[in-house]
Amino acid sequence: MSASNGNGKAVPAAYPPPVDSPKEFVKRGLDAEDELIEVGVAIVGGGTAGLACANRLLQLLADDPALMERLGEVPVAVLEKAKTCGGHNLSGAVMRPGPLQELFPDLSREEWRKEGFAFGEVEKEAVYLTPTSKIKVRIPTPPPFKNHGNEVISVSALARYQQRMAEEAGAYILTETSATQVIVEDGRVVGVRSGDKGRGKDGEPLGNFEPGTDIKAKATVFAEGCWGHLTGAAIREFDLADGREPQVWELGVKEVWKVPRPLDRLIHTVGPWPVKISARYGQVGGTWIYPMKDERTGDDLVSIGFVVGLEYADATTSPHDLLQLFKLHPLVRKILEGGERVAWGAKALPGGGYWSMPKLSMPGAVIVGDAGGMVDTAALKGVHHCIASGKLAAEAIYRGLKNGESSFESYEYAIEDSDTGKELYQVRNTRQPFQKGFLKGGPLVNLAIASRGKLPPGRLKWHRNDEMPMFVGNTKDRYPRPDGRYTFDKLSSVFITGNATRDDAPNHIRVQKHVPREVAETWKWMCPAGVYEIPEDAPETGPVDVIVNYTNCVQCGAITAKGGRLTTPEGGDGPLYQIT
Ligand SMILES: Cc1cc2nc3c(=O)[nH]c(=O)nc-3n(C[C@H](O)[C@H](O)[C@H](O)COP(=O)(O)OP(=O)(O)OC[C@H]3O[C@@H](n4cnc5c(N)ncnc54)[C@H](O)[C@@H]3O)c2cc1C
Ligand code: SF4
Repeated sequence: MSASNGNGKAVPAAYPPPVDSPKEFVKRGLDAEDELIEVGVAIVGGGTAGLACANRLLQLLADDPALMERLGEVPVAVLEKAKTCGGHNLSGAVMRPGPLQELFPDLSREEWRKEGFAFGEVEKEAVYLTPTSKIKVRIPTPPPFKNHGNEVISVSALARYQQRMAEEAGAYILTETSATQVIVEDGRVVGVRSGDKGRGKDGEPLGNFEPGTDIKAKATVFAEGCWGHLTGAAIREFDLADGREPQVWELGVKEVWKVPRPLDRLIHTVGPWPVKISARYGQVGGTWIYPMKDERTGDDLVSIGFVVGLEYADATTSPHDLLQLFKLHPLVRKILEGGERVAWGAKALPGGGYWSMPKLSMPGAVIVGDAGGMVDTAALKGVHHCIASGKLAAEAIYRGLKNGESSFESYEYAIEDSDTGKELYQVRNTRQPFQKGFLKGGPLVNLAIASRGKLPPGRLKWHRNDEMPMFVGNTKDRYPRPDGRYTFDKLSSVFITGNATRDDAPNHIRVQKHVPREVAETWKWMCPAGVYEIPEDAPETGPVDVIVNYTNCVQCGAITAKGGRLTTPEGGDGPLYQIT
């Protein structure tokens, strides 16, 4: 069946997911005292940002035993839905080192590498245009791509290191625990509820059923990463996105390869190939290839990935297949050939930048890291902002708790005054012009970069990703047939993530199932894990019934940008990333 004769255009936002956020995800009031767990500070999400917050809080509390005691038996708790911290974290990742050095001042960069989360300082770099599938043209490194002195890391490995540090300092880390509701009492966040475990496909309790628990906290930190489930509920509950631009997203697919020859430089390509240059397709994408030297094993590794903005219009855009196609370029073949793929993963990141950031505090709680939209997507940099925001949140919460306050608004001002606030402000208008296409938008993007944000003036708008009319185009005709050695299909890729979702787990993906073909094709191609299927006997035009193989989901979050909703699965489900 050829989908290229799709019957026009359809807007995913016209088929919203069946979700009632205030009813389902906000709990009004706490359970009785004897039925809940009480902690000092509850941190939702044990990724880079949440664990930076936990570690900084414990550093401050170590010097303040009186406050530590006032916070009770569990001064700091972190709830993480993955099997272990790091299990759901993925990034490029080349990191600006400053905030991590500030967080752990006694740890040298040599020690980062010995700990196994860092893989070398960037000494050489190159940026290429790839006009076609064969040609590359080296260009002077644009300012956002200057990485000299930065460190190549794995956020998954960094999270495991940060987890260990936090536990040694006294944090209570609840892994395999999803926070499913934010608890609001008297207009303030008073904690979160953890999810039930052991429910069947239709929500029925199984033999091993364990109900969730209210976790009461003096302060709550939303550190859920890109499009947090509870963060979204809190943003709506407290109108935190009022007057801001809508959030938009990008989706990245990454592989790690063990290679026979060390790569001597960090590489970025800025297209236009392998995406289509015509504005009609709405595609904007870029790639990275980062060298990684594993000092513990001596292995030469390479991190390679493809990121595409989710504002595209061709329903057959597949970031996973675009990465496979990119690997066929001679520039890449030269690096990977003779090597072996050792990891794969996918994750969305917030792309709206400064104007799309929500208000970062509300009574009783704050938002840190990607959950607060703190990523500079022109430079593909968020890790250092996540660490900085986690640290600043910890300091504001510490001050607030010491003074007996439940407002942590000083955190917002601290962000605004910090390098994070200043850097994000400087790149506030650099990505939006690409909504006009690569050719038309490119000069404006360059202007924004060259003028350090002063031009174009004012606030450039974002259009919601799910309001883009989708058509069934022909990007898919370019994708290579996977050979299982050098290029791979989606399912064998999910397999190597160590995905451990039970076959009879309840469905955590909310989408309408009877939708126009254009919307169904969008989901089918976009999902890197092959979750959405269109039955073979579905009509060529008109609505189709989508099959949702939710147990394949790697929780990348992209579906939320294109008309569906990722909600929290049962704790412990999903991938178990090691080195992404
Ligand atoms: C493809 C890609 C490439 C990137 N490349 C770079 C780069 O090269 N350099 C750079 O600086 N930045 C890069 N970034 C951005 C950077 O990775 C992020 O900014 C950063 O890792 C986000 O950290 P975080 O802690 O905010 O969120 P996350 O890493 O997403 O962590 C959030 C954690 O919260 C958990 N969680 C979420 N909801 C719940 C819940 N309800 N209950 C319990 N647990 C929950 C998740 O399982 C996860 O572990 C990239 C991002 C992507 C996606
Ligand atoms: S189903 Fe899961 S893996 Fe697929 S797009 Fe949605 S969140 Fe990502």
